[in-house]
Amino acid sequence: MKLYDNVIAHTREVLAESSCKSYELSETGSWKDVGNSEFIMLRDAALEIGGSGLPSVNYTCVTTSGEVTGDEVLVYGKDIASLSGATAFARIVILETEDLEEDKDQEKAFQTIRNLEFVRYHVFPAGYMVRVSAKSNQEQVRISRKALKAGISFAKVGGLYIRKYKALPEVRHVRVIFITEKELVEKLMENADKVDSITRTLTHILDGMPTDCGHCSMKKLCDEVEGMKELHLGKRKTEGKNEAGI
Ligand code: SF4
Repeated sequence: MKLYDNVIAHTREVLAESSCKSYELSETGSWKDVGNSEFIMLRDAALEIGGSGLPSVNYTCVTTSGEVTGDEVLVYGKDIASLSGATAFARIVILETEDLEEDKDQEKAFQTIRNLEFVRYHVFPAGYMVRVSAKSNQEQVRISRKALKAGISFAKVGGLYIRKYKALPEVRHVRVIFITEKELVEKLMENADKVDSITRTLTHILDGMPTDCGHCSMKKLCDEVEGMKELHLGKRKTEGKNEAGI
């Protein structure tokens, strides 16, 4: 799976200019997942991040390139306890998976991608209410006073995401990146749209869309993303073969 590798490379390039704090999974401590979306009233909130018109973005990339060799949380900018007032926010996840064999076993790849998407919206850290705009890829988080007092941090929240993703057998390693520096968030915002287009096209392809490039609305994306055309047109070739592969 190399469809997202250009986006991952761009993310790496942008972040290379800045320093971060990094935490291995064993250093992230434990934080409760409440199992369901928790509503935090404004009067109980200590912080709102990613809102108030400030830049905010969230995207998830899958790779099999060996980019992520361990489970880690990276924090660029201030951590939760040091924030005050409105803050720009990005949460980016890079998943190193086993070969999804999307060119050979479309069902498996399709199911895995659906499962990965499911996890994206099903992590519920206690005292950490996430509101995602699927349309704009913004992520807004409201953090409760109680959670702040109990010592919530991005490392703890990131640790929960990593454990949830790693419950899927196809996921080898997870890197969760939190960013609260406005300039960095701004530079990465365009990536979310690219990731969305890739995931949408991939889902359509695996779902069996027609293979007529001349009349396809995805053509511009397929011309830009390495591996997409091969995936779709290769899928057509294998569909035409019999059990003996002829
Ligand atoms: S390979 Fe061709 S038909 Fe398939 S999604 Fe890309 S442009 Fe469309």
